[in-house]
Amino acid sequence: MSPESQLHRVVLLPGDGIGPEVTAAVKRVFAAAGAPVEWEEHAVGLVALAAGGELLSEETIEAIRRVKVALKGPITTPVGEGHASVNVTLRKRLNLYAAVRPVRSFTGVTTRFEGLDLVIIRENTEGLYSGVENQVTDGVVMSMKVATELACTRISRWAFRFATRRRRRKITVFHKANIMKMSDGLFLRCARKIHQEEYPNIEYQETIIDAGCMKLVQDPTQFDVLLLENLYGDVVSDLCAGQVGGLGVVPGANFGDDLAVFEAVHGSAPDIAGQGLANPLALLMSGVMMLNHLAETRDDPRCRASSDRIKAAYDRALSEGQKTRDLGGTLGTEAFVDALIERMPRV
Ligand code: ATP
Repeated sequence: MSPESQLHRVVLLPGDGIGPEVTAAVKRVFAAAGAPVEWEEHAVGLVALAAGGELLSEETIEAIRRVKVALKGPITTPVGEGHASVNVTLRKRLNLYAAVRPVRSFTGVTTRFEGLDLVIIRENTEGLYSGVENQVTDGVVMSMKVATELACTRISRWAFRFATRRRRRKITVFHKANIMKMSDGLFLRCARKIHQEEYPNIEYQETIIDAGCMKLVQDPTQFDVLLLENLYGDVVSDLCAGQVGGLGVVPGANFGDDLAVFEAVHGSAPDIAGQGLANPLALLMSGVMMLNHLAETRDDPRCRASSDRIKAAYDRALSEGQKTRDLGGTLGTEAFVDALIERMPRV
């Protein structure tokens, strides 16, 4: 167990757009909850570039390798042109192959379905995110979808182990192996093998992604853990976010073998950046996942205690109607954080 004074160092990447606002909010809430964390801040993204640095410096990558845990704000990715995604580069460079996105309903946030509680597990390193694109000839381009047995097996094993540890009952793989017979076919074969040979007690299902999306819209409560390759995981994450109130309430974590980077599912939201309107909950919930990870990996009960306090505070704030505008409320970022801290159980 850690001595009372010891703090866990965490790399903090505020990022672009609403990133600095939601990061500042998380720092305030962590301080109020007495979370035993010290931040090592690094600029990334357009903010770093504007300050004369690089989008993603080697120093930042090395810092995450050294510290092993990071909390990351969103980083803007230009559409259709410009630099490669810093988010994707970071995941690949650090081999953060498993993305986990818990999606759950909240009392006080009215949506079509109540009691939704599912987890998305997304392969994070290959698929159409290989970034291998080329112009074959004028007016013809190709994008390469990469699938390897190593990565498909690794993410499948990770998903089944996660389901077992978290007492989840069922894994559903979303795929399009009727069309992409080789790449998605390989993903399915790897998932089936891990299920049959290592985790036969977890229920296993497959659904073609188009039908799966229809089912998710009709009744998402029929699902438990979803396992998807990279692009499908990206799209289905936002779809599921829409079922529980939007991108403001869905956290995420990216795991490698010994590294973890926690980040919200949402992007940098340039349309509301700098206006004090952003919902900080998604990054705060990612921070709660990070505290739970520290509690488990560093065997420090103070992390679990502060994570419980933060969770109790936002559950209570939401159930009492204290909400930002994306959830139908009226509060700005700061006022929401004030409301949350007022409702935090005392240390
Ligand atoms: P990216 O390409 O980086 O994934 P995106 O295109 O998915 O980004 P987002 O930045 O995630 O776009 O924003 C999508 C919409 O959701 C925008 O209208 C944005 O304002 C809203 N949004 C995203 N995050 C939040 C938040 N934390 N609080 C309030 N609104 C948000």
